[in-house]
Amino acid sequence: MNDGSLPGVYVHVPFCRTKCPYCDFYSVTSPEMATVWLDAVGMEARHYGDLFARVDSVYIGGGTPSLLEDAILAGLLDRLRGEFALEPGSEVTIEINPGDASIDKLRFMKDLGVNRVSIGVQSFDERELRFLQRRHTAAQAEKTFEEARASGFDNVGVDLIYGFAGHDGKAWLHSLERVAALGPEHVSCYQMTIEAGTPFGRMHAEGTLGSLDEERQADLFLMASEFLEKNGYLHYEVSNYSLGKERRSRHNMKYWRHIPYLGLGPSAHSFHGNRRWWNVRSVEEYCRRIDRGGMPVEAAESLESEQLNLERLFLGFRTIDGVALASLAECENAGTLLDRLCKSGLVSIVDGRVVPTPRGFLVADSLPLLFDHS
Ligand code: SF4
Repeated sequence: MNDGSLPGVYVHVPFCRTKCPYCDFYSVTSPEMATVWLDAVGMEARHYGDLFARVDSVYIGGGTPSLLEDAILAGLLDRLRGEFALEPGSEVTIEINPGDASIDKLRFMKDLGVNRVSIGVQSFDERELRFLQRRHTAAQAEKTFEEARASGFDNVGVDLIYGFAGHDGKAWLHSLERVAALGPEHVSCYQMTIEAGTPFGRMHAEGTLGSLDEERQADLFLMASEFLEKNGYLHYEVSNYSLGKERRSRHNMKYWRHIPYLGLGPSAHSFHGNRRWWNVRSVEEYCRRIDRGGMPVEAAESLESEQLNLERLFLGFRTIDGVALASLAECENAGTLLDRLCKSGLVSIVDGRVVPTPRGFLVADSLPLLFDHS
């Protein structure tokens, strides 16, 4: 089976060379624990070998996976293949940072069976890259992209960030034009959110860092949607675009379709059946627990069927899969609501499904609440 309906495995690599001031993902800047972490991930994977026996996607994210030494990367893929049966044609993605991944590293990844890379470019504007405290230039990002192509990757994603204080349409259009000129198979455009506990969060609280108002954020969002769609990309999820349905991120689709996924490593989240669980954030604590023969799970929850249904609505309205009309049947005034939403250009009805438009994506989180009948 190769239709994306099997579970996927995510591995969280908790190491970064430096911390970007806006980032809330868990990572430490001391990679000395990489070997211990690798052994711990291998042990954790062993625990789940039966529950997730066959998988069709592996996503190595973080953190900065491209920082891992070749032997660690090879060991990681070995351990994953030892515990899970990867279906033929599985999507195997690794996140890379421009500048960290030399062409030799990229070739090595390709030889290991990685068939998709996701490059954290964030911006093609030098001023913005300095503001975001990225460690690479726009030229380095383009070089990494070209080297990924030269290494044989025909499935490449590029991540961009928009909507920070002072971000203007001209600069955003420049990054969009650069990405369209490169022509990756996948583009993610993430809206900057100021996270408490990050340096940007602290600056914002102190009043030394502003934020962009909602209206301006919405303009930049719609600018990206219109521009990328004109350039052949399918706006298939709030923040994600692909060159056709085939190039959607198979792994990330599992999150939006309630397909089981296993998260290995510190802070990783998992979902199976009606159960969700997540690991402790600290890499030290994660390794310690596994070393003592325990599990690194911090907490778990079982979702009632009403919760699962509501979540299905939330996830559905985030993608162009939308939600089945039938699933709204219990909402008494669904017909009137849908009529209003269609007239406002927020959704359309396609083959018995309610599908959000790009403007609908802007309010994706509030659409399900209109239909909630619990
Ligand atoms: S944005 Fe990426 S490189 Fe920067 S701190 Fe977060 S995970 Fe590390």
